[in-house]
Order: sequence, then C-alpha cells, then structure tokens
Amino acid sequence: MAISLERVSRTYPGADSPALSDVSLAIESGEFVSIVGPSGSGKSTLLNVLGLLDRASSGRLAIRGQAVDAASERSLDTMRLRLIGFVFQSSNVIGDDSVISNAAIGLRVQGVPMDERASAALDALEFVGLEHKRKVQAKLLSGGERQRLAIARAIATHPRIILADEPTGNLDSNNSRRVIEYLRKLNSEGVTVIVITHDVDVANQADRRIEIRDGRITSDVETKSQPMPQPRVPVDLEPFGAASQQSWVSRTVCSLMDDWGDAVSALSARTLRTMLLILAFAIAIGGMTGALGISSTTSNAINNRLAIASQDRLSISIEDGPGVLRDDFDGLRSGVDRIARLPHVVGASYVYSAVPADVHITRVRPSDLEPETPLSLHSSSKNYFNDFGIELIPHNIRSALDDPLAGPLAVVSTKAAIALDIPYSKKSGPAAGVSIWIDDQLVPIVGVFEPGPNFPEYADSVFVNASIMRAVSRSDLKVQVRTEKGFSAAIARVAPLAYSPSDPGKAKVDVTADIQSIRQDVSNDLGSLIALLSLVLMLLAIITAASSMYLTVQNRSAEIALRRAIGSSRWLICRSFILEGFIVGMTAGSLGGIIGTVTTLCVSWIQAWPPVLPPELWLVGVLLGATTGIVSAIYPAWVASRQDPAIAIRA
Ligand code: ADP
Repeated sequence: MAISLERVSRTYPGADSPALSDVSLAIESGEFVSIVGPSGSGKSTLLNVLGLLDRASSGRLAIRGQAVDAASERSLDTMRLRLIGFVFQSSNVIGDDSVISNAAIGLRVQGVPMDERASAALDALEFVGLEHKRKVQAKLLSGGERQRLAIARAIATHPRIILADEPTGNLDSNNSRRVIEYLRKLNSEGVTVIVITHDVDVANQADRRIEIRDGRITSDVETKSQPMPQPRVPVDLEPFGAASQQSWVSRTVCSLMDDWGDAVSALSARTLRTMLLILAFAIAIGGMTGALGISSTTSNAINNRLAIASQDRLSISIEDGPGVLRDDFDGLRSGVDRIARLPHVVGASYVYSAVPADVHITRVRPSDLEPETPLSLHSSSKNYFNDFGIELIPHNIRSALDDPLAGPLAVVSTKAAIALDIPYSKKSGPAAGVSIWIDDQLVPIVGVFEPGPNFPEYADSVFVNASIMRAVSRSDLKVQVRTEKGFSAAIARVAPLAYSPSDPGKAKVDVTADIQSIRQDVSNDLGSLIALLSLVLMLLAIITAASSMYLTVQNRSAEIALRRAIGSSRWLICRSFILEGFIVGMTAGSLGGIIGTVTTLCVSWIQAWPPVLPPELWLVGVLLGATTGIVSAIYPAWVASRQDPAIAIRA
C-alpha cells in the first residue's frame, strides 16, 4: 500500500467549512491515479496532505504503511525527501541555476556525494530528453522544457510516489502529451503517480480517477484506458538517502561545501544587490577600522608630544609664593640656583603667576576696559626665556627682569602686544617709550616674546620684574626646570631637596604626574568617542544588511518553498541564509579593513604624523564583518525557515 487515508479532514483556520472532509482513500503502490474536480473543491489540499506539506486536522494518514499523524516535522521532511517527488503547475525551477543543478536539488538535500549526484541528475535529464541543455540557465527554458525539468528534478531522487499538481496546466497539447508520457513511463517502472488535473486527456491516461467536490470524494473509478503495464516492473532503485554510506566526516565536509556553493551561487545570481550590500558593509567596517587606526595614530602623536615635553620639563610648586617674594626672595634665587647646578639640568627658573582676577592690565588709562582675551601676569628669573628657548626681542633686556632694584618694566607676548595695541617689530622689539598700566602703575614695555607652540599658557601674557609682582596679593610660584632629555624623572626626585635642603617639603614636583594623567585622559576620551561612533556605524550596517536580506527572502520565497517541499529542513534553509550573511560580511570585512588602512594612512599623511596601524586592524575588520554579517542574517534566515511550503508553493 502506497498511501492510505482514513476519515481525513482539513479545516483551514477561520474557514466556515472544511477544505477536506472525511476523506478515506487507499492507493496501492504502482498505481496511476488522477484526481479531478472543480476549482476550490479541495484537490490541492488533498495533494498537500498526501505530500506531507500540510497536516490533516483529523483522521489518519499512512505512507507505505507508516502512520505519519504524530510524526515530527523533521521526520516528515525526511520522508518527503526519500519517498515523494513533486511536480507543480508552475514548474518552480530556480531560474538562475543551471538545468543540471536544478535537477540535482533533491540529491543535494539528501546529501548524495557530488560525483554520484551529477550522474543521477544526468540520468534524470536523459529520461525527459533534456541532457543536452544541462548547462543552460533554467530561466532560458521553454514552458514545456521547464515542466520536463521539474519531472527530472522529482525523479532524480528515485521517489516511490510522484505527486503532480496540474503538471500540464500551462502547456500546449503537444507538450502536455510529452509530460504525460514521461509520467506514464515512470509509472511503468513501478512508481506510484498521483496527478491532479483539469485535463480530461490527462485524466484518461490514468488507471483510476477520483473525483472530488466540496472536499468529499464523489466518485472513484478504474478507467484503465491503457493496459496496465504487464508485468509491473518492481522498483529496483533504492532511494539515495537510504543508500548513502558515507562516513560522518565526509558527509559533513560534503554538506559544508554544498552550503558554501549554494550561498555563493545565490549571491552571484544577484550581483548588483550583493555588491551594494558588500559596499554598505565595507564602508561601515572601513569607518570602524579607520577610526581605530586614526585613534591609534592620534594617540601616538599626542603621546609623543607629551612624552617629549615630560622628558625634559619639570615643574615644581613652591608654597606661599607672595610670602617668599616679600621675605625670602634671595632664598628663592639661591634654591633655584642649586637646582640649576644639578647634573643634567639645563636650566631652572622661578615663575610667578598672578591670579588673573587680581590684576588689571590696560594700555591708555588704568580705568579702561581690559582687552577681550584676559592677559595673565607673570614674573620669572632672567634665564627663563633663554633656558626654555623662548625668543625674546630684543635679546639684551634679560638681566633687568629679575633685578629687584630695577624700576618697573615688562615684556609682552606678541599676541598680548596686538591685544594691547603696542607697535613692535620682529627685529627690534616694541617701539621705544611704550608703556601699559598694570593696576595703578605705569610700566614701560621693554620687549616682546614669542612663546611658540610649546608654551600655549603664555600666549596672552605679560612678564614683569619682581618689584611689580610684589604688589600683587595672590600669586602662584613654580620653579620650572629644563633637563637633558629623559632626565626629568630623576631630577624630579632630587630637586625638592636641592631647593630646600632643610625642608624639602616646601617644593612639590607636579608636572610629570599632570602630563601622565592628561595623556591618559586624552587617550580615554578619544577611545570612547571613537567607540561610540563606530557603534553607530555598525548598527547602520547591520540594519542595511538585515533589510536587504529580508527583501531577498521575500523575493526568494518560491525557491525556499520549493526547497522545503523537496525536503530541505528548516535548519538547512536557515543555514544557507546565515552562510550568505557570513560570506557578505567576510568579503566586506576584508574590504573594510583595506578602506580603514587607507583612511588612516591618508589622515596621518595630511597631519604629518607617523601612522600607527595595529597589525590586527585587518583581522578586526574581517571578524567584525563576519560577525555582523551573521547577526544581520539571523532574522531573515528565521523568517525564511518559517515559511509554510504549502502556502508559498501556491503563491
Ligand atoms: P482546488 O485545488 O481544488 O482548487 P484547494 O484545495 O486549493 O482547491 O482549496 C480548497 C478550499 O480551501 C478553497 O475554498 C480554498 O479557498 C481554501 N483554502 C485553500 N488553502 C487555504 C489556506 N491556506 N487558508 C485558507 N483557506 C484555504
């Protein structure tokens, strides 16, 4: 017994009446049965139930003696794959694939090794007279040829039962006859053939005609217009699925290669979409790896600058600056001298900095408004400018700066000179006789200086001699030390003692620690900014890819349904989409790695920074690409695998 149905009903959710009601039927192995009836009578529903594409709402169904009502979906997939071949009205070939790979789809799902697969598919094509077209793309076949290809695909797996739903519905009489001949020939080889048809000629070719109306069988007669094939040839061919005796390893390798091949051919069939998708991904990943590269390069550049600064500069805070200036100025100067005489010290100077709110600096009258950019007031030892390479114009006014007996005098930064409207020349310094007001005191300007990029803190500043600073109530006192490169840390340890041997606690080294923390902060800030930016880019890429994949799933629903009908498990469908995502992601990741590298190189070239390309940049790109490709494919893959083949095949 090929198939038996006992009181089978099928009611679709929401429908008033059942599409099949109480159908009992027995079809013997080797029969050729036609099912006829008006449109909407339930023929396709019956075929779907017989073909295990749909489950009956009630009743019992057995295929070759095996009850299937309670079988799991996976075992239904397997039974379909081993026992049943489908031929649909619209032949559902995969247009972009070659004729031979269409014929081999079922074999591929069965896991038949590649070489056997090719020869079995070719046998099937020979059976329907299409072997000469094996390399042609299926979409180039005529309607009749497609239907013959559908038959070849159905029989390639050596099924015991062929279910054909209006196989001649779209064909002219000539092609219809050929299709029926093939079905007849198959039947003569022992295959059970069940055909749904409107076509009287087709129905007359069958041995038995079952008529169905409103979901019930209304007649079931033997037609036997043709003599029964005598003797019936037993089917000598075993289904491939049962016979394949490959080892576990070679089966896995074979199936992985198949999956890979499927994914690549699905992608290459839609070249433009695939390229755009890869591009969207590559840009996002390029942005991300580029951001990584740029952040490494920038941190490196900042680190270098700060490191250079911290290597030869040292700043020491001295407590109670105003007090020292009033009562112990000589002590300060000798302390600074002692530091300056330490080995590896290039120079040491004190620098007073007034609290900006305490001083009022104007040009014409003490009551005028101060310049827009606040000016800071400092006082330093005479060697300061020299030791730190700050250019003072003219050069010969240095010694007056820390002479406690000298009258008031000031030098201003070039920016401050401009803000205060002081005429100066780069050669001879300020015009003679120019003075400014510092609070109520008229102070002659004797020089200008250019602090340069190393001393941004003095960009808008005025340096005065100690006598003026003495009048300021609050000020900060530091000793600035310049060492030979790389000695700043060592000097930092001994400088406080050199400054004040009796009480080293008066002096506290601060700059090295400061710079370290700035360096850390800058790196951290930059890192988190770039991480955020990259995350946004990545999300965009995932959304683009997922929506594009989702649209593909919609486009390919007929193909997916066909694969499911043939017996592909949900997992296999899911796997092939995820693999597509993986391939797109990998390719885009490699490309993105290159984009990121090139971007980093460009930025560092423009900024004249040494480029830092972490060796793992490319790897990060590929891994990111692969992961995001998989992530973006998960939902579409799930949607694809949930498709109901019975519904999709009707569409
Ligand atoms: P036939 O193949 O004879 O034209 P069908 O088996 O396709 O008939 O349909 C039988 C009845 O069931 C029709 O009334 C049809 O509208 C209904 N039907 C078929 N498929 C579905 C479905 N998936 N959901 C709801 N109703 C359906």
